[in-house]
Order: sequence, then structure tokens, then C-alpha cells
Amino acid sequence: MEKEYLCSICGNKLRYYDSVPRVMRTKNRYTIWIKVRRFRCPSCGRIHRKLPDYIFPYKQYEAEVIRGVLEGFITCETYGYEDYPCEMTMIRWRNSQELQLLL
Ligand SMILES: [Zn+2]
Repeated sequence: MEKEYLCSICGNKLRYYDSVPRVMRTKNRYTIWIKVRRFRCPSCGRIHRKLPDYIFPYKQYEAEVIRGVLEGFITCETYGYEDYPCEMTMIRWRNSQELQLLL
């Protein structure tokens, strides 16, 4: 059963548009491909990307920030990430098996 998504701009129901592959590096230098589905709003025409479900609990943070934390180049002292996660959140991410798979 397909989930229904609403446009974050105008609130209309999104229509499936296409899937784009995105490569992710795993810890052991393997790469995995995930499918990012794109949905289009029929009323304002915006394209919305939807990450796979296992990323959803972390989606309040940009994927780039999560990767930065896991790779160790974003810390609490990193300049330019005002909305970076707190230290405890970072530790939780580093211990998370499913997030580790993304690197
Ligand atoms: Zn819209």
C-alpha cells in the first residue's frame, strides 16, 4: 500500500514522479544504491524527494549532517551547523547499526 504524501508548500496530494538512484558509501568502502523516490505536486509543480523509510527517524536533520557526524568531520564545535544535533544525539547516531550501514 502506497503512502500518501502531501505537498509541504500547498498541501495538495503528491503524485509519484520517478525514482532516482543515490549512491551511499558503506563503512567497508562498499557502495550501496538506495532509491530516492520523487513526487510531484500537481498544483504547484514542486518536486519532493522522499528518502527510504529507514532514514525517516532522522529526517529532521539533513542527510549530509548525519553523514558528517558519522564520518567525524562534524562535531559540536563545527562552525556553520547552527542546528547540528546535540552531543547525545551524535553518540546515538554513531551507535546506530542502520545509520552505520549508510557510510
Ligand atoms: Zn504544491
